[in-house]
Amino acid sequence: MELRTENLIGFDYSAKGSKKFQSFNPLTNASNPWEFSVATAAECQLATQKAAKAFEIYQQTSLKDRSKFLRAIAQNITDLGPHLLETYCLESGLAMGRAQGECARTIGQLEGFAKALDSGQYLEPTIDTADPSRSPIPKVDLRKLNQPIGPIVVFGASNFPLAYSTAGGDTASALAVGCPVIVKAHPMHPATGSLVTTAILQAAQQTGMPDGVFSNLNSNTFELGQQLVQDPRIKGVGFTGSVSGGTALYQLAQNRTEPIPVFAEMGSVNPVVVLPEALDQSDSWAKSYASSITLGSGQFCTNPGLIFCIENPKLDTFIETLKKELSTIEANSMLHPSIHKSFERGRATVEENATLIGQSKGNESLSYPGRGSIYQVDASTFANNPRLHQEVFGPLSLLVRCQNIEELIPIIQSLEGQLTGTILGTTSAIKQASKLVEVLKSRVGRLIFNGVPTGVEVCTAMQHGGPFPASTDPRFTAVGVHSMKRWLRPISYQNWPDEFLPEALKASNPLGLWRLIDNQWTKN
Ligand code: NAP
Repeated sequence: MELRTENLIGFDYSAKGSKKFQSFNPLTNASNPWEFSVATAAECQLATQKAAKAFEIYQQTSLKDRSKFLRAIAQNITDLGPHLLETYCLESGLAMGRAQGECARTIGQLEGFAKALDSGQYLEPTIDTADPSRSPIPKVDLRKLNQPIGPIVVFGASNFPLAYSTAGGDTASALAVGCPVIVKAHPMHPATGSLVTTAILQAAQQTGMPDGVFSNLNSNTFELGQQLVQDPRIKGVGFTGSVSGGTALYQLAQNRTEPIPVFAEMGSVNPVVVLPEALDQSDSWAKSYASSITLGSGQFCTNPGLIFCIENPKLDTFIETLKKELSTIEANSMLHPSIHKSFERGRATVEENATLIGQSKGNESLSYPGRGSIYQVDASTFANNPRLHQEVFGPLSLLVRCQNIEELIPIIQSLEGQLTGTILGTTSAIKQASKLVEVLKSRVGRLIFNGVPTGVEVCTAMQHGGPFPASTDPRFTAVGVHSMKRWLRPISYQNWPDEFLPEALKASNPLGLWRLIDNQWTKN
């Protein structure tokens, strides 16, 4: 398939601007061959106009038609085959196995949302029937369901060129509920994005979706993203990236005449607490953690950045094994020179206050190696240095030695919000550490017992979001079917004539949904 370097605006390709940029291959240390056209302000405006127009039609499409659209996207991405995967590798330096896994996840997510449309339960139809005889005031008939909020801007993530970019979770969840999407492609992988864009364009045309249901805009500067977030036709934003980027866009959105929600998934250090009882299995935990810290060169939002250990006689053996396991793992390339640079900067900051205790094997052949590193610090130094609490995006973990649980509790309390918190121990040890568990619970979106935080299952019960700065709104998840809720708002119909009600609320229940009627779940 031909790789297009223009912007896609609805059903038309466009390259009106004179500015161009290229993506970069960190393995060859050279730019990739394609030159992408930076979208102009006028092209950006056209995309939002088309999205607003498309919303009028798209929000009325049936669950079945949108489900067909999502399945067609999934099929078209599958059909891109090795071309897509090879392009992904050229733009990320990631291995073919990771490309295959992430592509499968992207397709699985699209199919998951299509299934959610087949069931239709995300509409949450709720009915309180009228009681004209109620005294002194007769009760009205009220019927509520979720409806789409409008055109959404999605910022592609640098670390997930497929699963959290062009047709990733944010896009798929928004398209599922009836919101048109404009993707601000991440400049580290525009070619990967362009191929996926073609798959979406074809799917939209194959399934009769309106012009403007999807656009893909390229840029390597902040202006385009800022213009999109400030455009009054945009009604919501999905973002994955840095705390500074997410916060800047969130503030722009809140300063609009009509503020809109920004669901930004940002930094997390994912604290892990190693209770002494866990060290009966210290070898296996050391192995699991050496691999979790270095997985994908640590470029995951769930990377275990902080490991809190309680002093006990087996701790030194655990640390020795962790060092040994880490030293057997070879460094892989990081995604981009800028990410490598910021990793090295973060590492230098940690090194000012902590001691390096273990590293993965170097790799001379790489220009931008993400060398796995473990540092150690005592609890009071950690407590007094808030910079050590910050995420260092890459394969780095800071091991904090605490005298006892009492010393650890206020430290956990002082941490910023996190996506995950993990406890390694036994069930009886957890029982004794109940205060610690409560404190950890208050800081995180997902609590893990005896596991590693990396590896985010895509399923309905997954919560991928947490108190700020893990995400801007901890009430929502960025992963799983419930991520659709970010793009919905409830509307109530009062005494509305049945023939004009949405199908999900009609008396005959033509969609056969479970509905909460007068506080009873029923399909009647
Ligand atoms: P980023 O710098 O936050 O950029 C993400 C996207 O947001 C890009 O498209 C960028 O635009 C845009 N953007 C950022 N700041 C903006 C602003 N002030 N106004 C308008 N648009 C803005 O993240 P990144 O490029 O993925 O990586 C940089 C760093 O972010 C990493 O080193 C890492 O520390 C962190 N990061 C964290 C996670 C995580 O999951 N925790 C994931 C990815 C990255 P342009 O690129 O067009 O300039």
